[in-house]
Amino acid sequence: CGGVDELSCCWSSSEEEDEEVSMARPVQIVVADEDEHSFSLQEEVLERLLLREELQDLHVVVVSVAGAFRKGKSFLLDFMLRYMYQQSTISWIGSENEPLTGFKWRGGCERETTGILAWSEVFVVEKPDGCKVAVLLIDTQGAFDSQSTIKDCATLFALSTMTSSVQVYNLSQNVQEDDLQHLQVSISLQGAYLLLNSLWTLMFLIRDWSYPYEHPYGLEGGQSFLEKRLQVKQNQHEELQNVRKHIHSCFSNIRCFLLPHPGLKVATNPQFDGRLRDIDEDFKKELVTLIPTLLSPENLVEKEIGGVKITCRDLLHYFKAYMKIYQG
Ligand code: GDP
Ligand code: MG
Repeated sequence: CGGVDELSCCWSSSEEEDEEVSMARPVQIVVADEDEHSFSLQEEVLERLLLREELQDLHVVVVSVAGAFRKGKSFLLDFMLRYMYQQSTISWIGSENEPLTGFKWRGGCERETTGILAWSEVFVVEKPDGCKVAVLLIDTQGAFDSQSTIKDCATLFALSTMTSSVQVYNLSQNVQEDDLQHLQVSISLQGAYLLLNSLWTLMFLIRDWSYPYEHPYGLEGGQSFLEKRLQVKQNQHEELQNVRKHIHSCFSNIRCFLLPHPGLKVATNPQFDGRLRDIDEDFKKELVTLIPTLLSPENLVEKEIGGVKITCRDLLHYFKAYMKIYQG
């Protein structure tokens, strides 16, 4: 990480910057126009995030959470934020009565805008080898379950996969055939660009897992469940076989994590504000494993394209380039 160390000490403490940090919030970087079936990149927003003096030359780690609305993505991302802000402490998960803040999350069935959001603060983390990396958290959401927009959402999914180092595919209860087909459409949209990437991690995150007696919560249970689910069988319909082969050939690292139901207060109480006291123990126990699996300094995976680690500045360039492909 030559030359990077000096840079990271140049934290300026101008008032403007302090203000920006204290006002950290989700910002939309890709906006979808659902009527036009088109996407636009918020270039200025992205430039403001990635071209900061102290960040632009750092290798970048991009952790993305993608999936349908109302499946607890923002809720999860807020715990990721807690972890990133409290890195050094064991008690990162917070206190019993602290409301959860960050990415907006809420109950109800109304949907939000389709697109890609990023946390406006890019975190600088020192890895065990002493190299500093920049960590960007993004949230990709759309109506993944509706046929009419399947291509739009697959496009979004492709975009965030191509620009991230880890894609967390957030699913409710199980991996359905639809979810795999959706992935297949998205992979086919990525086409030749997939070949450029050797390191790609896809994590299926199954929420409200209710068969712990068959496959226990966590990574190991997830792994055995996924192996079974992605198995190619002779008597399967050809299409189902192809989806599975395709997924295997596209991601170098496929993982799965089974998360328990967080409890009725989380799922149904409109007064619930995210405090730990109201969340089931089982859920918290698994969360404490899941989040560091994705974000602890030793587990951070720098984004590579064509076998080369890319910087924040490069990432901006790739966002623009990939965007052009889908607009064209
Ligand atoms: P998003 O639209 O995917 O970002 O979902 P949100 O994070 O906004 O959460 C939607 C609703 O689901 C909220 O009422 C959350 O309290 C609730 N929720 C969060 N995590 C879970 C979960 O793992 N299971 C269930 N059943 N509900 C959850
Ligand atoms: Mg959300």
